[in-house]
Amino acid sequence: MSVNDYLQVACRGAPPAELVRARQLFAIGDYFTCHEVLEELWRATEGPLRDLYRGLIQIAVGLYHAQRGNLVGARQVLTRGLRRVEQYPNGCLGIDLEALCVGASRYLAWLEAGALPPAPPLPVWRWCVGIFDLESLIRETRSRGECEVVRIPERPQRVLVVMAHPDDAEFLCAGTVARWASEGSEIVYLLVTSGDKGSNDPTMTPERLMTIREAEQREAARLLGVQHVEFLRYRDAEVVADLRLRRDLVRAIRRFRPDAVVCQDPTARYFGQEYIQHPDHIAVGEATLAAVFPSARDRLTFPELLEEGLEPHVVPYVYLSGAREPDVFVDITAFFERKVEALRAHRSQLGDWDPEPMLRLWAQDTAAEARRRGWPNAEQMLFAEAFKFFDIR
Ligand SMILES: [Zn+2]
Repeated sequence: MSVNDYLQVACRGAPPAELVRARQLFAIGDYFTCHEVLEELWRATEGPLRDLYRGLIQIAVGLYHAQRGNLVGARQVLTRGLRRVEQYPNGCLGIDLEALCVGASRYLAWLEAGALPPAPPLPVWRWCVGIFDLESLIRETRSRGECEVVRIPERPQRVLVVMAHPDDAEFLCAGTVARWASEGSEIVYLLVTSGDKGSNDPTMTPERLMTIREAEQREAARLLGVQHVEFLRYRDAEVVADLRLRRDLVRAIRRFRPDAVVCQDPTARYFGQEYIQHPDHIAVGEATLAAVFPSARDRLTFPELLEEGLEPHVVPYVYLSGAREPDVFVDITAFFERKVEALRAHRSQLGDWDPEPMLRLWAQDTAAEARRRGWPNAEQMLFAEAFKFFDIR
C-alpha cells in the first residue's frame, strides 16, 4: 500500500476514540491533558499517520505555551507543527486540516506581532488535537508530578552580572555573556570581592593580588564584550549576606536598571562528592536575590538611596548560574572558544592548568541535558550553559 492509499483509507475511517476525547479537551482549553491523550495515540500509531499526530501535537503544545505567556516557545513549536500538518490531505481523520493551518498561521502572525490572542484563540481550534515537540520536557515535569511549562526567555537587553570573585563569571556564564554581548545586549559586571585571597605565593600580599585580579577580570570582560566592570572590594572569603551588602547591590541595580540580573545560586551548597560551594558564592547569591526582590523595587527600603537620586527599579528577569535546578539552556557553541579564552585571562588563578577540557566537558554535558529535555534546537547544540530562570515582573 502506498502512502497515499494509506492516507485515503485513514481519511475515510472513523477517528479513534482518543482523538474524539482529545478534541473535547482541546475545546475546553485543556491542552495539557489533551497532549497526554494524544501522546498515547501517537505511541500506538505506526506508519504515515504518526507524523500527522506529531504535527497536531506540536500545534497544541504551541497553544499550551502561548496560554502561559511563553510566546517564544509557542512560536517555535507552532511553526514546526504547521510544517508537518501541511503535508497531509484535508479531511484526514475527520480533521479540517486546511482550516487548522489557516488558523495556526493567523495565530503565529499574532505572536509575531507580539500580541497574545484570547484563549481558546479561534473556533477552528476545536479541530486541533495536541501533542508536542517539547514532549520530553513535558514528560519529565510530569514524572515529577508537575504540569509545569518551562519558559523560554528572549535575550535580555541590559544585563547585570553579580559574582563573588573575579573568574566566577568566566567559569559559569561567559559563553552566554559573550553571546548576548555579540547580539547587542549591554552588560555590566559587578564583582563583590576582588579575589584577594587564595594564593600560595609567600611573597604575595592581598593588596597586590587584588590589583592583579582586577586587571585580569577587566581583560576577561573585554574579551567577552562586557562594557563595564565594577568592584565592591569586600574582603575575599569573608562575605556575608548582610544589609550592607544588600544595600550596595540595590544601589548598583537602581543605578544600572537592568532587565536581567545573573547571579550565583545560593541554594547550591555542594555538588556531587567533590565540590563544597565557596561561602562567598552562597552569600553573594543570597544578597543579590534579596536585592532584586523586594529591596530594589521598594521605595520604602533603603530610603537613603532615594536621597542619592536612585529611584526604585523592577528587575523582571533573574538567571541563576551554577544552578541546582536549571531550567533554561543557552546555546554557546559559537562562543565556547571565547569563554575559554576569557577564563585563561585569569592567569594568577590558573597557573599551568588548562581549563579547556573541563569547560568542554561541562558544556557538552549541559547540551546533552538540553537535548534530553527536548529543549528547542538542542539538536544543533555542541556546547551550552544552563540557568535557573525567573520571570518576576
Ligand atoms: Zn568564586
